[in-house]
Amino acid sequence: MSNRLNTTPNDLRAFWMPFTANRQFKQNPRMLVGARDMHFTASDGRKILDGTAGLWCVNAGHCRPKITEAIAQQAGELDYAPAFQMGHPKAFELANRLVDIAPDGMNHVLFTNSGSESVETALKVALAYHRVKGNGSRTRLIGRERGYHGVNFGGISVGGIVTNRKMFGTLLTGVDHMPHTHLPAQNAFTKGQPEHGGDLASELERIVTLHDASTIAAVIVEPVAGSTGVLIPPKGYLKKLREICTKHGILLIFDEVITGFGRLGSPFAAQHYDVMPDMITSAKGLTNGVIPMGAVFVTSEIHDAFMQGPEHMIEFFHGYTYSGNPIASAAALATLDTYKEEGLLTRAAELSPYWEEQLHSLKDCPHVIDIRNTGLIGAIELDPIAGEPTKRAFSAFLKAYDDGLLIRTTGDIIALSPPLIISKDQIDELFEKLRTVLKGVT
Ligand code: PLP
Repeated sequence: MSNRLNTTPNDLRAFWMPFTANRQFKQNPRMLVGARDMHFTASDGRKILDGTAGLWCVNAGHCRPKITEAIAQQAGELDYAPAFQMGHPKAFELANRLVDIAPDGMNHVLFTNSGSESVETALKVALAYHRVKGNGSRTRLIGRERGYHGVNFGGISVGGIVTNRKMFGTLLTGVDHMPHTHLPAQNAFTKGQPEHGGDLASELERIVTLHDASTIAAVIVEPVAGSTGVLIPPKGYLKKLREICTKHGILLIFDEVITGFGRLGSPFAAQHYDVMPDMITSAKGLTNGVIPMGAVFVTSEIHDAFMQGPEHMIEFFHGYTYSGNPIASAAALATLDTYKEEGLLTRAAELSPYWEEQLHSLKDCPHVIDIRNTGLIGAIELDPIAGEPTKRAFSAFLKAYDDGLLIRTTGDIIALSPPLIISKDQIDELFEKLRTVLKGVT
């Protein structure tokens, strides 16, 4: 594709791009220069249908006027306010509004700037909570194989994606991992929640027996694992995790950085699956992806445990220069307004049957070995080229982009998560383009 910006690889040298094949990109840059609603505009003028809501974050679609206006207005009114020992009204208003849509009992919010920071914050709250309750021996954290919890040290320690971990030394000690729940032999081409694998939750019981509950602070899982290629929780799995955590006094953290804000058809996955964790991490859809911001929801039980000691003392030694930043808060409030006015936090539930039907119609396309879906999430797993893992999916990604469709790939899995404003016609268009792509890749 032509690149009308006429950049040379040398112009692009300075920026070391994240999670990107830098050398490949700089030879053939894929530059986006504009966006509106369901589409990006590429530097060569083409419209690109957004099949991924950016990076699972632009849930209301692009350049929504209410959000962009709120940001401009806030930037001219109060650009920054110190986050420590000072406040500004919008952060408090936002926390109240978030608590209103969160599962019952999630009554307090800590603000961060990303999903990774939300995870670090939640893990630290868990450790400190047990300590203030007099259970300082509870220091172990339990994650899951194939889990993705961002890229900071806590997150990659509890995370289970080997490429994200193996370069970085010993990571946090005292971490263990449950097995993942991906069982393609039994569950391939399942629509919605898989039948098989719910009993894998009892692996947590085995881990508790090994280490003793008195050493374990928290379990963290994505209700639907996204970045590893969309693993949907088998029936009964999350409820069973909850039961085991409750039985042993272990905190359960749902990492809802991608499932939060309507992706499954409820505001949060906890509501969708009717399983109440002790903390929820979020980011992305909180500001429609427009301004970096994350939020960690905690129960009153956790929050109140910290509210002791002399009143002039800081209760929790943690926070960021930009926690609850005024412009991010304004963007998030406008995002929540947009979601409410357009019914976007539940729209995925209405669209999901149609989405499912169209997605699974790709079953007979070349190389497809599994298709799975929930809410407005879909995954198409491709048979890897022998000896060249990820190459086939990456070719599909490049071809889709050339054909005017943005998809995301991880390993040999195509992950789809369009903005929640997508129309049925656009769903048809998305899968028609993808059918052509799959027929075209070798
Ligand atoms: N947790 C989950 C479940 C995620 O999917 C992501 C990002 O995709 C993160 C954490 C990290 O978020 P961020 O990239 O904003 O740090």
